[in-house]
Amino acid sequence: MITVSEALDRLFALAQPLDTEEVPLLKAAGRTLARDVHSTRDQPPFPASAMDGYAVTRANACDTLTVIGESAAGHRFDGAVADGQAVRIFTGAPVPPGATRVVIQEDVTRTGETITIGDRLDEGDNIRPAGNDFRKGMTLAAPRVLTPGDIALLASMNIARVPVTRRPVVALISTGDELVMPGEEPGPDQIIASNTFGLHALLTQLGAEPRLLPIARDNAASLKTILGLVDDADLVITIGGASVGDHDLVAPVAAELGMEQSFHKVAMRPGKPLMSGRLGNAMMIGLPGNPVSAMVCGHVFVAPVIRAMLGQGAAPQPRRSAVLASPLPENGPREHYLRATLGPEGITAFERQDSALLSVLSAANALIVRPVRDPARDKGETVDYIPI
Ligand code: AMP
Ligand code: MG
Repeated sequence: MITVSEALDRLFALAQPLDTEEVPLLKAAGRTLARDVHSTRDQPPFPASAMDGYAVTRANACDTLTVIGESAAGHRFDGAVADGQAVRIFTGAPVPPGATRVVIQEDVTRTGETITIGDRLDEGDNIRPAGNDFRKGMTLAAPRVLTPGDIALLASMNIARVPVTRRPVVALISTGDELVMPGEEPGPDQIIASNTFGLHALLTQLGAEPRLLPIARDNAASLKTILGLVDDADLVITIGGASVGDHDLVAPVAAELGMEQSFHKVAMRPGKPLMSGRLGNAMMIGLPGNPVSAMVCGHVFVAPVIRAMLGQGAAPQPRRSAVLASPLPENGPREHYLRATLGPEGITAFERQDSALLSVLSAANALIVRPVRDPARDKGETVDYIPI
């Protein structure tokens, strides 16, 4: 049995970063920028007015100036401004040569083609210099998960197609004679496959492309058939059948199909029977079947693997710390991930930590991480947690 951090290291050794593809800007949000991109222009490309008003060479209280033309957004004034003159100007319009400031319209009185500057002027020049936002050659550095703000910036940089890491294709396989799909009518001894759907949601959120394969039954022939449908997946995830019970076929069948196993058990709760290796061109992870174990392993192992494949680096799931709102007993020999809620008064582990309880997982918004043999902790002590 290896530790969680050793299992992660071995998973990272198996996870290969994927190639790059170009997508249109409208498809780039949430994707991982794969290469640095550079602006081919200055923004703004000319000195631009920040306000509606009058462009002037200088402004003294009570000056009277002649309005010689207009500069609007998209339609510059063809000419320069001299002393004694003003150009009517609007936000985003090019500031004509000669002008050193824009007097806002609230600070002037206009009469026909002349304006008189008021006696209380604001301080600013109200001009955005060329390149004020960014210069030609400015870099948006990879890797980076593109936010809506990034998409706006890329658009402004005139980058219409964005180099991003290909989405990892993940084949999801449930195993078990007892399982039916949501929406089907279960027999008296059957339950609904659930964590497959939770993992599908998690994978989608992470930027992967999950594919739900048919449920494999608890016999070698069925499991082989379903594993034969994996096609070009980058990662194959099986759920259940991963321990050493009579019906736990994943390890022997995968071995028969040539899987090079990297490890099979991890010292953690929940989720001990976790296995991984390479199967053909794909990486394989065998998750435990208990619904909460599968989902916790999804957060602790699958999420970092997907990020590594996306080129976001090889790092464990980010942790935060919080103050305990109620005490915790001493932890045993396995790293423990406790379902918990984080509220204004601190973090509280649920009383019931059975790894079959999806109702508790759904109510939780955090996993408290208890190190191996962590001593009992009092209310008010600080613990690490993973937001979920
Ligand atoms: P196993 O690892 O196959 O022994 O499964 C452990 C427990 O998890 C059993 O109670 C299974 O019924 C349950 N289980 C396995 N796979 C799933 C699944 N995809 N959805 C919900 N429960 C599952
Ligand atoms: Mg099973």
